[in-house]
Amino acid sequence: MFAEKCFKDLWHMVGNTPMVELHYRYKNKPGKVYAKVEYYNYSGSIKDRMALYILQQAYKKGTISPTDTIIEATSGNTGISFAAIGRALGHKVKIIMPNWLSKERVDILKSLGVDLILVSKEEGGFLGGLELSRRLAAEGGVFLPLQFENEDNIAEHSHTTAIEICRQLESVGLKADGVVSGVGTGGTIMGVGKYIKQCSPSAKVCPLEPAESPTLSHGHKCGSHRIEGFSDEFIPKIVQLDKLDNIIPVNDGDSILVAQKLAKQLGLAVGISSGCNIAGAIKLHEQMGDNAVIVTFIADDNKKYLSTDLVREEPVKDEYVAKDLEFEGFRTIPRLSAPIIPM
Ligand code: PMP
Repeated sequence: MFAEKCFKDLWHMVGNTPMVELHYRYKNKPGKVYAKVEYYNYSGSIKDRMALYILQQAYKKGTISPTDTIIEATSGNTGISFAAIGRALGHKVKIIMPNWLSKERVDILKSLGVDLILVSKEEGGFLGGLELSRRLAAEGGVFLPLQFENEDNIAEHSHTTAIEICRQLESVGLKADGVVSGVGTGGTIMGVGKYIKQCSPSAKVCPLEPAESPTLSHGHKCGSHRIEGFSDEFIPKIVQLDKLDNIIPVNDGDSILVAQKLAKQLGLAVGISSGCNIAGAIKLHEQMGDNAVIVTFIADDNKKYLSTDLVREEPVKDEYVAKDLEFEGFRTIPRLSAPIIPM
């Protein structure tokens, strides 16, 4: 069948990413953290995993028809993933996105031939976009992935991302003691966390949140931040904080500075959320001790952020991880010999 073959082909382009063991000095002490390098995915971000899995499951369950338009309200990477994978499968794609995100995201979406609707703060922002997607779906001929509430978003990360992490660490004689990730939909932290806790109940699974906008801690929107890809208007439905450990705050300025250091010192040109994830991983490493194996994600590269503060001078503050941090090198833990192709 066309779709089945297409999915198999695409699973060779999505997931099975390399992992890096990052070597650094923090407060004059050597340390290591581990990161999955997710910009190797088909459209360049971790969100390809969830987009491909959700569409594959929808075909399996018969909830999508080949002529359906895929409509998604998104902060950017999800839209790019559904656009690229949707087009690969022959679907029309409509993306609804807040109008304050980077120009690069808008241009990439346009280049993928999607119908793009930009929503202003006055028109309701993220939540207004979600509402609009439901209204459009009511007209029929539409598939709504609903990334914020779709359990397949979590399932993908349990079935592929987490297993890759365990096998890659095992290949160098290690086991994860902790996982951190910032929360967009929460699919990554919930899915990887679920599997890691099953294998190793004492492992810590910590969501990160922007210190300027602690939505997870407060339960509602209470600030704004510059970490594109992390949502801040509500706690997504698939996030169950009682299944996770302590929330770790990371400043957006610190995220930018850590991302800049990764690029300048190691040539790893990453996005702002990846800077946040690495800063959060270093904080958990500090909490758990020198030998703790902490894993996180380089969600995408810097190319979507070249018009943002990522490439501007950022003031260093005393409380930042970046203030006392130097990256010294990395070793690569290779991909698995074959991708995990979910059924
Ligand atoms: N980083 C970036 C750049 C993202 O776009 C996203 C998702 N919007 C995330 C991290 C978080 O991923 P998740 O949705 O699985 O929480």
